[in-house]
Amino acid sequence: MYTGTAASHGIVLGRAIVKLEETVTALRQKIEPQHVIDEINRLKDNLKATHHQLETIKQQAMVNMGEEEGRIFEAHQLFLQDPEFIGEIEAKITNELLNAESAVADVKDLFVAMFEGMDNEYMRERAADLRDVSGRLLRNLLGIKDTASIDSDEPIIIVAYDLTPSDTAQLDKEKVKGFVTDIGGRTSHSAIMARTMGIPAVVGLGDMTKHTQDGDFLIVDGTTGEVHINPEAALIVQYEKKMQADALLKEEWMKLVHETSVTADGHRVELAANIGKPEDAVDADKQGAEAIGLFRTEFLYMGREKLPDEEEQFEAYKAVAQTMDKDRAIVIRTLDIGGDKELPYLNLPKEMNPFLGYRAIRLCLDRQDIFKTQLRAILRASSYGNIKIMYPMIASLRELRQANQILADVKQELREEKVPFNEEIEVGMMIEVPAAAITADQLAKEADFFSIGTNDLIQYTMAADRMNPDVSYLYDPFNPAVLRLIQYVIEAAHREGKWAGMCGEMAGEEAAVPLLLGLGLDEFSMSASSILRVRRLLKHLHHSELKDAAAHALTLESGDAIQAYIKETILDKI
Ligand code: PEP
Ligand code: MG
Repeated sequence: MYTGTAASHGIVLGRAIVKLEETVTALRQKIEPQHVIDEINRLKDNLKATHHQLETIKQQAMVNMGEEEGRIFEAHQLFLQDPEFIGEIEAKITNELLNAESAVADVKDLFVAMFEGMDNEYMRERAADLRDVSGRLLRNLLGIKDTASIDSDEPIIIVAYDLTPSDTAQLDKEKVKGFVTDIGGRTSHSAIMARTMGIPAVVGLGDMTKHTQDGDFLIVDGTTGEVHINPEAALIVQYEKKMQADALLKEEWMKLVHETSVTADGHRVELAANIGKPEDAVDADKQGAEAIGLFRTEFLYMGREKLPDEEEQFEAYKAVAQTMDKDRAIVIRTLDIGGDKELPYLNLPKEMNPFLGYRAIRLCLDRQDIFKTQLRAILRASSYGNIKIMYPMIASLRELRQANQILADVKQELREEKVPFNEEIEVGMMIEVPAAAITADQLAKEADFFSIGTNDLIQYTMAADRMNPDVSYLYDPFNPAVLRLIQYVIEAAHREGKWAGMCGEMAGEEAAVPLLLGLGLDEFSMSASSILRVRRLLKHLHHSELKDAAAHALTLESGDAIQAYIKETILDKI
């Protein structure tokens, strides 16, 4: 058994697919000069084997799908004979003494970058072909079973060193029913995406990719963080029983789907969902979301070759507005790129500290072309629903004012063009940077609302990377420093008559909910899959008692003491 960080609730049993590129990186090796010939021969054998496989696939495709589809594989075969491509790989093995896998991966990256940089649609498409055929060659070199041989009805579990947000966004929801990664923590974007998709995930497992083969049978328990590879039958039966119990519990929660979110003594809060794609709103609705508290729009920009234009964005925002009907709020966060969310086609320079760098509102204030296009699209969609705008990563009043000035300009443009939008649209900001939290009293005068982004606020307050398991002992939502900031932000908002919400992962954590209620939080925005669990919890809580409990909790000296206090005095009594 392997144990990592439980990142997304639930259990899944299925077949592993090991993500290739990461495996190659993990197995990157130098060879001895006397082994160069052997390595080149191994490469040649695998080139031949790959060519053969493609021949079979080509014939099948021609019969089943047609001449043109078959030709695609012919193009793949040509790469395997291309003297320039093969020559480069052999040169890498010979000159850099790299194993064949790493040499293929490096040369593929080089050629793909070259093709993608060309001003020619045809050549850019060749980049995708090259990726595909190189993947097949790498699988052969690594002795990994072809994924096509995995029974397509079985749930698939992705095993990867890490999954980038754009990888995660592109996972096929129909097939991929869980994932496990070597690195990452509860608030890595891959973990957040798993919760959005409602699939179990375990992250930070160390070296799962080394121990897993394609086709291995896995049990992934996203509630406890346990993963089993090729388990005994008895264990499978045990887990199947657990899955049935989970399903019953979910059915129980489902009964609350149309209820309001209210404590036992009648205090009303809003339970909202965080989404990354317009389709997620449909699921959020099914899980009883009373609003969309965070639409992470950056996912619209990922997994593609260029920026989405105004029309495409408008359609996406409008679609969410239509799913949520006229009343329920939709907080659309403007582009939050940077940190672990990259957009390769922006060609941004690599940074030493990406989380402290050119990201989110900083990039948008600089690249006003990108920002204005998005603001236009959001404003236009605001005629269709209760849409609000939210800026990410604001660190100072100056930035808030600059963003608002650009918004005012865009509004003016639309007025002149006679394009309708909601003139009264609310404009809020995230509190993710300690500087913003500390100056919340000033910011609250000019922002219509706050949403506390604890995922980042914790990492910046504690100076502990949210992705790094080695410093996760510091990354603690219950740390008194973090809680004091949260308290200050909520009070500052209320003093100005504004509402304060939270869209960081903390908002959906069981032990945090009573504390945040006691601190006066108005809106809790979380992964859709957590909403009903929290709604059920609220029914057992007494708001009138929580204010004092929160005040006492904040006098305690550590996150552990605070959690233990909440557990013993509140949760255990439910
Ligand atoms: C946060 O930082 O808490 C947040 C919600 O933003 P993201 O997780 O997208 O950085
Ligand atoms: Mg953030």
